Amino acid sequence: MGLPELLADAAKGRYAVGYFESWDIYSLEATIAAAEAERSPVIIGIGGLSANHEWLSSVGVELYGAACAALARRSSVPTGILFNEAENFTEAAAALGAGYNSVMMHTQGWSWDRLIADTAALTAAAHGLGITVEGEVGALAEMSIDGQIDTSIGAMTEVSQAVDFVKETGVDYLAVAVGNVHFVTSDYVPTIRVDRIHEIGESVDVPLVLHGGSGTPADQMQAAIAAGITKINVGTRLKHVFGNALREAVGPDSGNDPNLLFGSRLPEDVNTRAGQALTTEIRRLMQVFGSSGKATR
Ligand SMILES: [Zn+2]
Repeated sequence: MGLPELLADAAKGRYAVGYFESWDIYSLEATIAAAEAERSPVIIGIGGLSANHEWLSSVGVELYGAACAALARRSSVPTGILFNEAENFTEAAAALGAGYNSVMMHTQGWSWDRLIADTAALTAAAHGLGITVEGEVGALAEMSIDGQIDTSIGAMTEVSQAVDFVKETGVDYLAVAVGNVHFVTSDYVPTIRVDRIHEIGESVDVPLVLHGGSGTPADQMQAAIAAGITKINVGTRLKHVFGNALREAVGPDSGNDPNLLFGSRLPEDVNTRAGQALTTEIRRLMQVFGSSGKATR
C-alpha cells in the first residue's frame, strides 16, 4: 500500500507506522511476521546509510525491491515499501520501478542548492511513476560505535526551512531533526523537541517522520506521535537484537548439522531463531507506536 494512505490513516488514528529497516530475507520476513501478528500496518525496505553502495547499485537495490514487492503482495496487512537513505540521486533513481513505492535520499551535509535541486528532480521522476518521496531538512547527530555522540554534524530543522523545502521540492513526507540521533546502541537518552515537531506540523501540510527510533525511549516516541509524527524509522536497534540472538544461536550448543543450521528455515536454523527475536522486538515497538490492531484496510 502507498505511504500516503498509510500515514493519513496514522494521522487520523493518532499512531505512527514503523519503518523497520531490514537487510536480508530473514529480517524482512521477520518484519512482516511481526506486522501480521500485531495486525499492524508496516513499512518494509532497505537503507543505504551504512550499506555497500557498489552492491546496491550493481544488484542490491533491484534484488531487494523485488523481494520486498513479493512479500508485500502476500502480506495480510497494509505494507509500504521504502528505499531509505540513498546516497545520492542516482542511487535513489535506481529504486524507481524496482518494487519500492517510496524513496528517500540521505542529504546530510548537502548545500541548500543541491538539496533543493536533487530532491526536486527525484520528486519529479518518482511522481511520474506514482512513487512518493521522503525529504529531509536538518541533520541528525550520530552515535559512533564507541558511544560518542557527534553533534557537530547535526542541525535542528528550522520551521522556515521546512516550509521552503516542502514548497520548492514537492516532497510527500518530511523527516525532521528535532533532537533525534542516528545509530544509538547505548542507553544514551536524546531529548526530542516536541514543541518543534508541533511547530513544523502546523506550518507544512505533509506527514512528518522521525528517524533515530533506535535510541528514543518509548515515552518520547509517544510524545512525538502526539505532536504529529506519523512514521518512525528504526534500524540500528533491530540489527543489535538480531545480532545478539544470532551470536547465541551459533554458540557451542547449536548442533553440527550445517544443513539444518543454515538456510533450512526449520527451528534449528540460526537465522530463523534470530528472526524470531527480531519479530518479538518489532511487535513491542508496534505497541509503543500504537499501530497494533490498526490494519483495518
Ligand atoms: Zn535514518
